[in-house]
Amino acid sequence: MKQIHLKLSKIKQKKYNSIIIGSGAAGLNCAIHLVKEGINAKNIAILTEGLGGGTSFNTGSDKQTYYKFSITGKDLDSPYTMAEDLARGGAMHGDLALIEATNSVREFFHLIELGVPFPHDKFGGYVGYKTDNDPRQRATSIGPLTSQKMSECLLKEVKQLKIKIIDKTYCFRVIIQRSGGTKKSVGLIALDLNVLNNKENFKNLNDCIVIFYAQNIIMATGGPAFIYKNSVYPPSQKGSTGLAIEAGCVLQNLTESQFGLASLKFRWNLSGSYQQVIPRYYSVDKNGKEIEFLRNYFPTFKDLSKATFLKGYQWPFNAERIENYGSSLIDLAVYYETEILGNKVYLDYTRNPSGFNFDDLDAIVLQYLSNSNALRKTPIQRLEAMNEEAIKVFMRNRINLHKESIQIAVCNQHLNGGVSCNEWWESININHFFAIGEICGTHGIHRPGGAALNSGQVGGLRAALKIAHSADYNRNFNKQQLTSIFKDELILIESEFNSILGGKVTLKNQHLSEKSDNSRLRTILME
Ligand SMILES: Cc1cc2nc3c(=O)[nH]c(=O)nc-3n(C[C@H](O)[C@H](O)[C@H](O)COP(=O)(O)OP(=O)(O)OC[C@H]3O[C@@H](n4cnc5c(N)ncnc54)[C@H](O)[C@@H]3O)c2cc1C
Repeated sequence: MKQIHLKLSKIKQKKYNSIIIGSGAAGLNCAIHLVKEGINAKNIAILTEGLGGGTSFNTGSDKQTYYKFSITGKDLDSPYTMAEDLARGGAMHGDLALIEATNSVREFFHLIELGVPFPHDKFGGYVGYKTDNDPRQRATSIGPLTSQKMSECLLKEVKQLKIKIIDKTYCFRVIIQRSGGTKKSVGLIALDLNVLNNKENFKNLNDCIVIFYAQNIIMATGGPAFIYKNSVYPPSQKGSTGLAIEAGCVLQNLTESQFGLASLKFRWNLSGSYQQVIPRYYSVDKNGKEIEFLRNYFPTFKDLSKATFLKGYQWPFNAERIENYGSSLIDLAVYYETEILGNKVYLDYTRNPSGFNFDDLDAIVLQYLSNSNALRKTPIQRLEAMNEEAIKVFMRNRINLHKESIQIAVCNQHLNGGVSCNEWWESININHFFAIGEICGTHGIHRPGGAALNSGQVGGLRAALKIAHSADYNRNFNKQQLTSIFKDELILIESEFNSILGGKVTLKNQHLSEKSDNSRLRTILME
């Protein structure tokens, strides 16, 4: 096999003041604030492996929630109280909670000004409802696709401001300059996927690599979706937490993943009304034997109905909600069926669970169904009465809840940990390197539902403020001084690729030896 030689002079090179990696709600918002705070749009680039991909653009749930400071009605709220509620879930820095709370209103109205249609009452008040881990009514939603609508409005503004989006660019190495005891990010190396994906254009690695010099890097790469076996992240989201780890960032709370029940064929989070209508859970073993396994976990149907109902707004698994027949006992039971016993678990909306009887429902369930005018015979009829859109979402994905059961599992939807950041969402140990949105480790353990989207917006604002108003961050720089660092990194990358091509690394693809050098390299890169 021919050895690869990477030559700086043959590689495309670009220079910006600030580079944002990722085009989700967090990254797009940060780009807008950078321009509004004074950085020239020509000096900013958003690099993304796929515009329109990622979690913000492609995910949702029964009622996707945005958590904000309460600004309506007679209930008093204060940034301090909201910060206490954000931090109460544990492992969240109090100062960061206070910043997220204090800047919540500013970011919420920023989204409204960009056209996100958050609902309001006739007095113009942005009413809220109570969400998970929320003692007040701070949550709002525009329906199942809140983050998608946010992202569309943010993208429109990014285009209006003429901020450059370099699509089909996969960033794989952040370059760090070390001086004395301090570390600073100075740029990154990326793969041009347009070249890579085009067989005709792909001649050698030099054509495919792009070097970006940057005074500041803002990582907005979302959650590490690809590492989870069962996931409700959209398939287009893979994540790049490894990029921050390789760069040497300090990370925190990495054990704090958020899991809950979701459908597998079409990845969709089964919260809210999907549970409140009390569907029938059942499992099927290898011999095709079907059982309603939840009956073994709850002493009475009343307990089961209450836990199922509460699962609606206590969606994420929480170990503290197992005891006393809490809602997370259901996640545990589903996990046991699927992962320990190897059975398949389904949710059926066409039939009631065995033992179902309106008289035996827990009082809170009965009252809720009655208030929603949903005291109907079957789960699907109740869902139709409560939330028709919940059925249509599945229908659009060719699943008819009127006729078929959906296979479910305990799936991951969010990583609450990530890069450790300071009050400007800048890495605590790498200067000029920021992490915003899901990749940032600010989220604590049991965050209130919807707090992730608020955190992503506030983080982008804070990073932009720091960059735009600090002399060392907004000034021009000379890339010539950096070429030796990039040359050293290219030598490293060269040797990594040569060892892969030399067969020292095992890849999934077994037939590489049959291919020509060029197509072997392309296959390896694509993988
Ligand atoms: C099913 C589900 C329901 C949810 N419900 C809620 C909710 O109700 N309320 C709430 O607050 N949060 C919710 N969340 C979480 C929230 O949606 C996400 O945390 C948020 O959208 C993440 O936004 P982001 O901008 O950080 O990342 P994303 O929107 O995921 O964007 C990441 C971007 O980075 C790009 N990228 C990644 N790696 C690279 C790389 N190496 N090079 C170039 N580009 C790269 C991706 O292509 C993408 O463009 C939910 C999540 C899921 C999965």
